[in-house]
Amino acid sequence: MKTRKSKALFERAKTLIPGGVNSPVRAFKTVGGDPIFMSRAKGAYLYDEDDNAYIDLINSWGPMILGHANEEVEKAIFEAVKSSTSFGAPGRREVEIAELIIEMVPSIEKIRMVNSGTEATMSAIRLARGYTGKNKFIKFEGCYHGHGDAFLVAAGSGSATLGVPDSPGVTKGTSRDTLLAPYNDLKAIDRVLAENENEICAIIVEPVAGNMGCVLPNDDFLEGLRARCDVHQILLIFDEVMTGFRLSAGGAQELLGVKPDLTTFGKIIGGGLPVGAYGGSREIMNQIAPEGPIYQAGTLSGNPVAMAAGLTILRKLHEHPEIYKQVEQTTRQITTGITRILSRQGLRYTINQIGSMYSLFFTDQEVTNFETAKSTDAQLFGAYFRGMLSRGIYLAPSQFESLFISNVIQSAEVAAVLKATEEVLLEMHEKK
Ligand SMILES: *Cc1c(COP(=O)(O)O)cnc(C)c1O
Repeated sequence: MKTRKSKALFERAKTLIPGGVNSPVRAFKTVGGDPIFMSRAKGAYLYDEDDNAYIDLINSWGPMILGHANEEVEKAIFEAVKSSTSFGAPGRREVEIAELIIEMVPSIEKIRMVNSGTEATMSAIRLARGYTGKNKFIKFEGCYHGHGDAFLVAAGSGSATLGVPDSPGVTKGTSRDTLLAPYNDLKAIDRVLAENENEICAIIVEPVAGNMGCVLPNDDFLEGLRARCDVHQILLIFDEVMTGFRLSAGGAQELLGVKPDLTTFGKIIGGGLPVGAYGGSREIMNQIAPEGPIYQAGTLSGNPVAMAAGLTILRKLHEHPEIYKQVEQTTRQITTGITRILSRQGLRYTINQIGSMYSLFFTDQEVTNFETAKSTDAQLFGAYFRGMLSRGIYLAPSQFESLFISNVIQSAEVAAVLKATEEVLLEMHEKK
């Protein structure tokens, strides 16, 4: 595999951009090697600067559920661009996307658009604090809610990969109001609630975790959170930045049948452009400025080009719910294929899967929380990642990430992924 141009770009980037990347998860620090610079992508494939092709199993960390450069999304963007890329005043598409989201996600009666998932979760916590008049909130170890100060405590994903659970620059005062509990542990929640009576405004959770690898909620976990929030008058916030419009048209809350008070979105909602959103009941959302006293704003929020992309992808998903069956089926073909390979080779690694999200963990333990996710063997994952990359399969460069399957991955790509997996695991095993 030629990587001369990628390497040259990375050398330049390192002198100009911290670590040579604009988001730490793109670095290859924990898997070894240098990041690959992409020049274009179409459908199921990424193409790098040296013209290598890769089957994309990460899909921009979720947004590209219809594959890359989808023609309808492209057309909508081009159409919007012709009428200016920003008005700084309200536009028709903002109303249309709000109507559509409210129709797709029943717990939402009002919604506010922002520019990233990070903004959505920061705003949701401010709203929860302002609405309840309480300051503390509970988050789960290994869940990631963007890089807002208050969330950078045991934040999974990028920070787990890089081993900086508490970032310098986050004050003790800020993280003091962030309470932690292990994922899937209602007893721990009860302890935290008892110790902080009448001080907690919200519990924020990834209803299916994707930022410690793909970790599913136990049967009673989300319902248990819902019940406790009702008893203690705490807002339940589902961070559906990953799972929204990914696990079903109504997100994880529809699939799993638990209704949060507030929901945050990102990733798919922008169809590949930078968009986030948060929403909930009319009563709570009416607290946001200019209707209410809680301030939150954005110069480019509801940007017409971004709304055009988001609207197109959401309409497609709304009108074609069979897409969810299809991406789940494709994902199952991959995960059952990998399971078969593992048993043929006598390996006991763990696969978690739901809908079009999955992770292969290099551990023989069941992975149900951050603790068990961390039992994975980083060396083995690194070898697996590099082996797959050299065979043209692009995975997330970290064990603590979920993979995301798009609807343009066909049987040929599934076969290629399984063939590569079989070869790489065999090679890793022989070397040991
Ligand atoms: C990606 C992600 C975020 C942050 O979104 P950005 O757009 O990267 O700021 C927040 N929460 C979850 C669950 C995410 O997966």
